Amino acid sequence: MPPTVDAASGPGKRLHYGCIAGHLSNRSWFPKDHPGARGEGVPVYDVAVIGAGPAGATLARLIADRWRVLLVDRRPLTAGGPQPSHTKCCGGLLAPDAQRMLSVLGLGLPLAVLEEPQVFLVRAIDLQRRVERFYQRHYINVNREAFDCWLVSQVPPGADVRLGCRLVSCETDGGGFRMTFNQAGQTCSERARVVIGADGANSRVRRLAVRPRVRPRAYAAIQEWFEADDPLPYYSAIFDPDVTDYYSWTILKGDCLVLGSALPAGRGCRGRFDLLKRKVGEFGLELGRPVKRETGLLLRPTGPGQICVGSSGIGLIGEAAGWISPSSAEGLSYAFRSAIAMAEALREGLDGFLKRYTLRTRALRGNILLKALKSRFIYGPWLRGVIMRSGLGSVRVEH
Ligand SMILES: Cc1cc2nc3c(=O)[nH]c(=O)nc-3n(C[C@H](O)[C@H](O)[C@H](O)COP(=O)(O)OP(=O)(O)OC[C@H]3O[C@@H](n4cnc5c(N)ncnc54)[C@H](O)[C@@H]3O)c2cc1C
Repeated sequence: MPPTVDAASGPGKRLHYGCIAGHLSNRSWFPKDHPGARGEGVPVYDVAVIGAGPAGATLARLIADRWRVLLVDRRPLTAGGPQPSHTKCCGGLLAPDAQRMLSVLGLGLPLAVLEEPQVFLVRAIDLQRRVERFYQRHYINVNREAFDCWLVSQVPPGADVRLGCRLVSCETDGGGFRMTFNQAGQTCSERARVVIGADGANSRVRRLAVRPRVRPRAYAAIQEWFEADDPLPYYSAIFDPDVTDYYSWTILKGDCLVLGSALPAGRGCRGRFDLLKRKVGEFGLELGRPVKRETGLLLRPTGPGQICVGSSGIGLIGEAAGWISPSSAEGLSYAFRSAIAMAEALREGLDGFLKRYTLRTRALRGNILLKALKSRFIYGPWLRGVIMRSGLGSVRVEH
């Protein structure tokens, strides 16, 4: 029987909800022979993973048998747990590359993470030229919150998982790092020999401790959910340079239609999103009653030079490092691939892990380069116009 998202709260798993200050003061949950039980000055954990999204949860799952791991996330991330104060703004589509990585990880999706409907068509719309085409695609539509909870449930009981716990600071301390966390309004600190930032596009670890000189271009992502009166059996990819030089989309999630857009970060994002709503309405896409709106940061590397794998004992994986496709904003396969590369680097030892991680992500950097080149073609309006008008590779939909 496949595991369900409820497995996260199953017996044997160390999931911390209440404030951990009490645990930290007596550390009664450490084995007696563990350094943490012997007092101050010794890093308690070998590896602290900040962020339990797809990248962090996968890494913790892969290294928990080798190292003493702390996995922390500010979201609650358990099925049926407290309502998250931060939801991940995401389309929740698993592209074939991400599906392949799940198979590499030996994971099959439980029914509980799937979202209705599963459709196989993308309607590409060029709003300016008023051209549209349908293309067959093989995405899996998931509920992103349930998907993340399920991934956390796969972390073995050997790892300490602290949810609803936010990283506030991270500093070098002797041979390791001291981190401060806030959980349920209380401050507590922990020490680890190695810190891995898996805390997403707006990574605090990257800002506090790594401070790279370059970073990928930033987009403000907005997704608005509407009641869907007339469910459409396709996703849409919407292009309009007046709205964004990237793209906008619609995705059905149960009874709701999600309209999203990746807008160049800065002023005027909301105005551009309103323009998008007006234009899709004029094009004939009906938006029902608004249900909710979510926002987030989205990175778009223009080349492999903008990826930052970390420095001085701190590694970055997933979108925290800038691993995300610049042509489609597909980030889940990159989260998995970078987590696997980091796990392989750490399995050989903690010394020199960043060098090994850098080597093991060479192919991924090549992939970013290819996607950056591809994106110049897709987002060049002239070429896109030619391809769409030609109908190359498109599907004729019989109504
Ligand atoms: C609008 C939008 C739509 C997208 N749609 C898709 C899609 O359909 N398919 C796809 O493949 N990709 C999509 N992406 C990209 C994808 O969501 C990301 O690339 C992917 O989630 C990256 O995984 P990650 O684990 O690196 O980071 P995240 O999923 O962002 O996880 C980071 C985790 O760190 C936690 N965290 C952050 N700060 C702290 C802190 N200070 N302390 C503790 N925890 C912290 C967060 O709560 C979060 O759980 C989309 C992105 C956006 C913005």
